[in-house]
Amino acid sequence: MTTREGNCKTCGKPFTERSDNYIHIPEIAEGDCFSCYHWKKVWTSVENDDFESVITEDFEHHTVNVQHPMSSDPRSWLGYSGQLWTIQFYDGREVRTNNLWRQGNIPEFWRESHPPNARFAYTTGEKVAKKLEL
Ligand SMILES: [Zn+2]
Repeated sequence: MTTREGNCKTCGKPFTERSDNYIHIPEIAEGDCFSCYHWKKVWTSVENDDFESVITEDFEHHTVNVQHPMSSDPRSWLGYSGQLWTIQFYDGREVRTNNLWRQGNIPEFWRESHPPNARFAYTTGEKVAKKLEL
């Protein structure tokens, strides 16, 4: 196994990658660290798909499909296994979803360009499920 050391061309942090694992990924081969590769993929997906970023005050990043927030897919295919959430975006929108996906805590490098935009609450209990007609 070989390792590759250097500074990430995007965030500048020193890194060590096991090239056997990641060298086939073009962004990694060209000098991004794995973290920047991951986050660039997230930003591309929220720019191109129906999924939108949900960023909390502590910079936890989730995505939700705002066009189709309630999915009828089997629970095992859904984010958080279909747990219900209520998202309050700072712009006033409120979205209820059973398909929330977590990507992780946004690294310092990306925070200025991706500020918090929402808060969300875990929705629990049978009454709420009935109210949402699930
Ligand atoms: Zn990086």
